[in-house]
Amino acid sequence: MILLHTCCAPCALPIIEYLLGKKDITLYFYNPNIYPEEEYQKRLKEVEKISKIYNLKLIIGEYEHDKWLAYLKKSLPRPLASYPENDERCLSCFRFRLDKSAKFAKDNNFNEFTTTLSVNRFKDTKFMDNYGQKIAKEYGLHYMVLNLEPYQAHEKEKELVKKYNLYSQRYCGCEFSN
Ligand code: SF4
Repeated sequence: MILLHTCCAPCALPIIEYLLGKKDITLYFYNPNIYPEEEYQKRLKEVEKISKIYNLKLIIGEYEHDKWLAYLKKSLPRPLASYPENDERCLSCFRFRLDKSAKFAKDNNFNEFTTTLSVNRFKDTKFMDNYGQKIAKEYGLHYMVLNLEPYQAHEKEKELVKKYNLYSQRYCGCEFSN
């Protein structure tokens, strides 16, 4: 049983296709970073769509944007808007979502988890995998490193987004995204 932290439907598609038949997948939508809430609902709707297409269980975490903001402000010395994308602000954002995913996995009897963020070619995937493994160890879980060659995953993603006519966002997620 694997808990797949799902940042959005497009990123999840190639991973679901890769894991189908190999793992019992549950999608976990926990992304309080997304702003504004209308955008959050829009991305969630697309994840609900793919959970139906692939007949996968979907768990929806809380939309606690204020908590996310407070965590980032506490973790970082400078104003959040002053960090470029893929810098310390984003690493804190990943940590926040991965911590919650690992805790959810542990509390709900999953033995394994991973995240769709780890195959995103615009993200620090090495950080994600290292941190995922570290937190998994703390919780007595296994973190799955997804060995999807990024370019192929991207091609597959484009193909499937088109096939299922899904919304594909143009910015990362929060109010500080470019
Ligand atoms: S730009 Fe994206 S990864 Fe970075 S803090 Fe905002 S939502 Fe999180």
